[in-house]
Amino acid sequence: MPSISEIFQTLDYGPAPESAAPAERWLDVHGRRFGHFIGGAWTEVDETRLFETRNPADGGLLARVTQGSEAEVDRAVEAAEAALPAWTALGGHGRGRVLYALARGIQKHSRVFAVLESMDNGKPIRESRDLDIPLVARHFMHHAGWAALVEREFPEREPHGVVGQIIPWNFPLLMLAWKVAPALACGNTVVLKPAEYTPLTALLFADLCREAGVPDGVVNIVTGDGRTGAAVAGHPGVRKVAFTGSTEVGRILRRQTAGTGKALTLELGGKSPFLVYEDADLDSVVEGVVDAIWFNQGEVCCAGSRILVQEGVAEALVAKLRARMETLRLGDPLDKGVDMGAVVDPRQLEQIRELVELGRSEGAEIWQPAGDLPQGGSFYPPTLCTGVEPAGTLAQVEIFGPVVVLMTFRTHQESVALANNTRYGLAASVWTENLNLALDVAPKLEAGTVWVNSTNLFDAASGFGGVRESGFGREGGREGLLAYLRPRSGPGDAKAGHRPTSRVESRPGIGHPSDPTAMDRTPKLYIGGKQVRPDGGTSLVITAAEGSALSVVGHGNRKDLRNAVEAAHRAFPGWSGATAHLRAQVLFFVAENLAARREEFVARLAGSAGLGEAAASLEVERSLERLFTWAALADKVDGRVHSTPFRNVTLAMVEPVGVIGIAAPDAFPLLGLVSALAPAVALGNTVVVVPSRPFPLAATDLYQVLDTSDVPGGVVNIVTGLREELVPVLADHDDVDAVWSFGDATEARDVELRSVGNLKRTWTDGVAPGGKDAAPRNWAIAGFGEGDVFVEHATRVKNIWVPYGA
Ligand code: NAD
Ligand code: MN
Repeated sequence: MPSISEIFQTLDYGPAPESAAPAERWLDVHGRRFGHFIGGAWTEVDETRLFETRNPADGGLLARVTQGSEAEVDRAVEAAEAALPAWTALGGHGRGRVLYALARGIQKHSRVFAVLESMDNGKPIRESRDLDIPLVARHFMHHAGWAALVEREFPEREPHGVVGQIIPWNFPLLMLAWKVAPALACGNTVVLKPAEYTPLTALLFADLCREAGVPDGVVNIVTGDGRTGAAVAGHPGVRKVAFTGSTEVGRILRRQTAGTGKALTLELGGKSPFLVYEDADLDSVVEGVVDAIWFNQGEVCCAGSRILVQEGVAEALVAKLRARMETLRLGDPLDKGVDMGAVVDPRQLEQIRELVELGRSEGAEIWQPAGDLPQGGSFYPPTLCTGVEPAGTLAQVEIFGPVVVLMTFRTHQESVALANNTRYGLAASVWTENLNLALDVAPKLEAGTVWVNSTNLFDAASGFGGVRESGFGREGGREGLLAYLRPRSGPGDAKAGHRPTSRVESRPGIGHPSDPTAMDRTPKLYIGGKQVRPDGGTSLVITAAEGSALSVVGHGNRKDLRNAVEAAHRAFPGWSGATAHLRAQVLFFVAENLAARREEFVARLAGSAGLGEAAASLEVERSLERLFTWAALADKVDGRVHSTPFRNVTLAMVEPVGVIGIAAPDAFPLLGLVSALAPAVALGNTVVVVPSRPFPLAATDLYQVLDTSDVPGGVVNIVTGLREELVPVLADHDDVDAVWSFGDATEARDVELRSVGNLKRTWTDGVAPGGKDAAPRNWAIAGFGEGDVFVEHATRVKNIWVPYGA
């Protein structure tokens, strides 16, 4: 026994193990073998389809769970479908009571949940006990409230129905909570598949569902690996798929669900920058780094895995970090004094090792603290890598382990460029004592979340999610609910009268047909604010219903579209950075100039497009209204300040998406175009438009109005041509951030398939659940031609956490 004074001299911690007993008892009650949880009951165990889940800290077998088959996924979806009517009938308050019971149940049984989580995943009990499980309870509590409020707050939306949810192993129960709580609050029922390394707390949660009185079939848990996940995502009864995991599997799911009419949200990987400016408080920074990359062994999608530090303080920071790393304690996850536990599985450990060795072979300097690793488990030491090139493996690839790279920058501008030099965009941390600097940098970072002088803060009241290849959709907060609700009614039947009778011929334009109502007889492409001739030097003929040629339009090709995207890109910083007041003013001016030419537009639509007088004047009147609506809303779509329970404000800033490709509807050739274009532009996006196929002249007439209305060049670009040639180029293009397809189900499928390259956001309006053509949108009705769904698609929310108050 050391004496007290000896203890004070070494300041060693003794072991302080949390008892595994409650978790062991629960496992024993189940005989350490699990079927699925379907329709409120456990399925019988089939010995031939069991796989093991182990404790990564000692390799010990915890339990065996079932590899879910397609037939079992079928049963789960059927149970979820059967549960829907009663769940709906229960109403928001009734559902809220169930969610509240779940929250209380988590609190009541928090110890067994925390212990089991640490055993299955390897994370320190201090984290599972103090962070994961309390946040789980918080999510259910917060959404118990939302359940009671959704009908009032989102009257024009309804639940999808059965939702399929697939989650990863890094925060097993927390990811379950992030998925299940909002889904249930909005009135959906759920089939959830936990990750194969960490299924146990989801199964314990199944037992809690019974205790908390969740009606049978409302929550179904099916275990298994990626094949089971694929069966869930592919099931025709599943109307929405929510996924958290790797970008690779995210792409698979995007392809798998393309054209099915299923809603999809993806929360994927990251390589998040951790920016340290020279005036930062370096001691706080060091603790920040600990939380950013050594929290949860670095198995955090938003881990601050790239430290970018201003040159002058780099050396000091490295020295402080190394000293701090020496004091991090690795060991038994159930030991309350342990800072870092075990990596989830030997396979993940192997991946971390391989990546670090690859980095070393590329010339990186790898630094790890002295001392032996704990034996018998999947342990990896905290690791600091320097001398890494910005394009090097360690700087670009998500390692998903306790490995951080540190790079330097000189100027603020360079810091932002380095931070954004990644395919991902999940989160970022900014460290500086200069608030002006922090709030100057925050909007420039490509990320869904920005933490100022803080890191890895999460709360149910704030949305979380990425941009770029980190995926799309938000979880948490008001913005997270949108993922679990869809617009209440179908788009409504388009009146036949608004479908042009003209059509485009795929034969080249011949001569120069005359159209008595035409305002400009040589329509061109409109790119970068200039009227340009198509690159290919060819035109297409537009013919009237009876077959006579109306006009020619440019036959735009791939090159033209690329030029248009480039122009939109160049225009984006200026337009998105302009004041909303200015954008409003420009749109009012567009409306004013369109109004001045009302008669010409009506005549053209009535005659050439063959819409007839009444429909044509309705098109023009409604187009004017749309322009006014979005001019009005341009400076009224506000962000929020979320009430997160920390000493900070969480600013939910509404940002434009970027460059949006719009494949305009065929019907409503003017109104459909204007109704899509106006919100996109009003909210700060720049657009590339492929106009109505039968009557592209509505768009080429419109650019003359834009030209006289102070719309800056490149904000709106119009490329005419053959839709089936042009839309695929838009959907493929890596510099297009979103594509809105107002075509049919075939176009929707193609757009969604092609979007996987840069994981751009898509709005495919023409496909209904089941993959059928949706009823065409009736753009003449305000309920379908404008509204919050346009805001949703034209914006993304960036949550900026700023210290606030004492
Ligand atoms: P993963 O993508 O392999 O697995 C995630 C889940 O998807 C698991 O449940 C798995 O069984 C399932 N799955 C695998 N293949 C599938 C398929 N073809 N169809 C349907 N489901 C399938 O990732 P992982 O190894 O579990 O987790 C690590 C990765 O997850 C990291 O790259 C990390 O960046 C990412 N991640 C992201 C977030 C986030 O919020 N954005 C959170 C945690 C983890
Ligand atoms: Mn495990």
